[in-house]
Amino acid sequence: MSNPADTLERLGDALVALVQAAFDDAGLARASDDDVLAVLAAAGRIRRGADALMTEAVAQIVDRDQQQPYPDRLTARHGCRNVGELIQRAARLARKSAGDVVAAAEAVGRPVSLSTGEVLPAGFPGMRAALRAGEVGVDGVVAVAGAFRGCAIGRAQMLAADEELAAAATGEGADAAPPACADELRALATVWATYLDQDGAEPRDAIALRKRGFMMGRARADGLIPVRGDLLPEVAAQLQREFDSVLSPRVDGVPVTGPRFIDQADASDSEAPDEAAADDRTRAQKQHDALAVLLTAAAASGTLPALGGAAPTLIVSVREEDLASRAGFAHVSGCHEPVSIAAARHVACAGAIQRVVLADNGRIVSISTLDRIFNHHQRKAIVLRDGGCVIPGCHVPAEWCEIHHVDEHARGGPTHTDNGALLCWFHHRTIDTGGWKIRMNQGVPEVRGPTWWDPSGRWRPSTTSPTRRHDDIALRT
Ligand SMILES: [Zn+2]
Repeated sequence: MSNPADTLERLGDALVALVQAAFDDAGLARASDDDVLAVLAAAGRIRRGADALMTEAVAQIVDRDQQQPYPDRLTARHGCRNVGELIQRAARLARKSAGDVVAAAEAVGRPVSLSTGEVLPAGFPGMRAALRAGEVGVDGVVAVAGAFRGCAIGRAQMLAADEELAAAATGEGADAAPPACADELRALATVWATYLDQDGAEPRDAIALRKRGFMMGRARADGLIPVRGDLLPEVAAQLQREFDSVLSPRVDGVPVTGPRFIDQADASDSEAPDEAAADDRTRAQKQHDALAVLLTAAAASGTLPALGGAAPTLIVSVREEDLASRAGFAHVSGCHEPVSIAAARHVACAGAIQRVVLADNGRIVSISTLDRIFNHHQRKAIVLRDGGCVIPGCHVPAEWCEIHHVDEHARGGPTHTDNGALLCWFHHRTIDTGGWKIRMNQGVPEVRGPTWWDPSGRWRPSTTSPTRRHDDIALRT
């Protein structure tokens, strides 16, 4: 290798010319899907190659630095406190990215023995070969090395794991899977590390227990409450399972594959709108809404410890005029932040209402309680009829749904099965604003979608009840 930097400079110039062509009006914007994907894949390869060169260069710097007293060190001579700072300046990387390159260099570099001058083998020779072949980048090496940090594993076992992980990284693993990305490598390496380091799990668990936490912050200017924390893996897994249970079978708008039923009305209507288009929430928004569902369900389960002698019910206070005029705001017990009238109407629709009349001086004049909760017989019957949230494409199952008073209770709508329809937390919360309309037609809920979803503006019966769909098939055949 005569002067690698010169060759790289020429390669870099050629790359810049390519980049400029790609950014031009006639560039990637005009390319076919296949060509855009091919560019992405090839750029990934270039990046892995650049990663490999940076890693080897940094390994050299680290190694040479260690052989010199401080003032003579390469880093010191260039005015940098350490290798990380030198990388940040030379390669214009963020501090974390520079730290990753150092970690990768330590994992796959081949240091020179200070005593014998002999070149020693790399810590992860398999990953070194994968990096050298351009099959893995710094992130993949760091994922593997990070999983084994602090583990007490013999060299032979370590080499066996390294060989298998490198095979996974290059797509030559026993399972014939395609080359693994860094996240997959981290997961695989973690399995290996815990398998080989049988004693390691215990202290790790103790550390995790100490670090666990869940905190709610102060309300921000936008009225949202930030949360942060670290969940133990089993708690996170439980939460994820429950999210999935609320959100299944569809997450992130990915349509359910395989056969599915369609409503009889839709079957004859080729203009039927696409259900998948109906839900444009992000995954984060869906998980937020799923959390709301879980909390409501837990409060209603009757199994939580009592708070002040009652189940931990959400108490919303709102002036009756504000609720009727849909202006102003409401308050929730346990939170200083005011909530919207829409939130109050949502809670009021599915809960009990206590009407408290105050005199001008604040004295309580009267209390009356309006029970508007559908009893469990009514609920079971509505579940049988509706199957789940009646908004098309929603698929939140019945057990996670609330019962909406279609004709508002405050305006005389009865707590009767002919006036109750299943809605998930999100669609119940946004029923006044989301563009979906619900009406009861001879005791059956019908839905009219927003115009962007269904320009025809038709009322459509909506059910996911297997019983009713079975009946539909029986009618047709
Ligand atoms: Zn819904």
